[in-house]
Amino acid sequence: MPKVYNWQIGREMEYPYEPGRPDKQFSAVFDTNKCIACQTCSIACKTTWTSGRGQEYMLWNNVESKPYGSFPLQWDLKVLDMIGGASWEGDRYVGKTIFEKAVENGQTVEGFLPTLEDWSYPNCGEDEMAGEPLVGGYHIDEVAHPVWFYYLPRICNHCSFPGCLANCPRQSIYKRPDNGIVLIDQERCHGYKQCVKGCPYKKAMFNSETGRSEKCIGCYPKAEAGLATQCIEQCIGKIRIQGWISPPEQAREDNPMDYLVHVRKVALPIYPQFGTLPNVYYIPPMTVPEPFLRQMFGPGVTRALRIYREELPNDPELQGLLLLFGSTNQIMTRFDVRDGWAHGYRRDGKEVARVPITEPLVVRPAYDPQYDVVRLDTT
Ligand code: SF4
Ligand code: SF4
Repeated sequence: MPKVYNWQIGREMEYPYEPGRPDKQFSAVFDTNKCIACQTCSIACKTTWTSGRGQEYMLWNNVESKPYGSFPLQWDLKVLDMIGGASWEGDRYVGKTIFEKAVENGQTVEGFLPTLEDWSYPNCGEDEMAGEPLVGGYHIDEVAHPVWFYYLPRICNHCSFPGCLANCPRQSIYKRPDNGIVLIDQERCHGYKQCVKGCPYKKAMFNSETGRSEKCIGCYPKAEAGLATQCIEQCIGKIRIQGWISPPEQAREDNPMDYLVHVRKVALPIYPQFGTLPNVYYIPPMTVPEPFLRQMFGPGVTRALRIYREELPNDPELQGLLLLFGSTNQIMTRFDVRDGWAHGYRRDGKEVARVPITEPLVVRPAYDPQYDVVRLDTT
């Protein structure tokens, strides 16, 4: 197998194909601290792309409660078991990726095929908490809470080394050279389900009506027009931002994706040890115990949590960028923060978003002589 460099695991690894880099790479950052599990994103995607026959069970975007939620059932626990958990030495992953583990077994990608039953409970584990129930009152003063759960929204990660693509015997899956979105060619696909098996995130799904596999298409018609995906545009909690991410050595400080992932390193890949180099990044939840987060988001968790908890209150640039999340339906390629305002710009340089770092506070008199009323809400 050719060797490719995977910066998320800090080393070279084996991958079935030579490395290639699209002109631009689709990317997104989700702030888990703000997700309220309203599932608007799931429905926005479902009504747009998966309302047809054979797609009834599909949720290209889903939101699961961690630690107990999972769609399909136990997708991540099963893959972690197969590759032997996660072993890191500093920022270097010293365990096996799904590609390296497969070599031992004479396969291309280590994976499993979920059963129909596994796909049948999309919100299993919703709001189930981990930890010991509280005794003696309800005040929590620990930074990481003794009882916890959090919401994990998930879409296809449009990986740089996709497991779905690597495992397809027909070479029906490709990364678009202009935007890095991973697509299944419906003409070539013969429905062998090897992509379903090979995607460790279980974001390729089989349509029994058409006999072909399908997956999130990154709303590519919108991306071509410079617009954010349906799930990102419709997000009620404004937890999401979409953009184009650079390789670490080409990171630009004024690119929102590069700033969050490469410069401040506050947004992290999900299960980087799988080895697919996912391009959706997460700001980890700050109330969750760190050991759990380390196995999910890797060793960068310690720094990301410190920045979010301790540095954010005195960092107007990071505050400004976080406030630009969900502020426009257009893909921002540049941002800046000046004079108390954060500004976002699209690819032609036009400003498409402007938000204040501090919301102005207006206090009005309690008594309104025009209507002869006394108001209770004066701010
Ligand atoms: S998340 Fe899965 S389906 Fe999406 S590109 Fe990666 S391996 Fe393929
Ligand atoms: S729409 Fe946004 S806030 Fe609502 S569940 Fe989806 S990601 Fe979370």
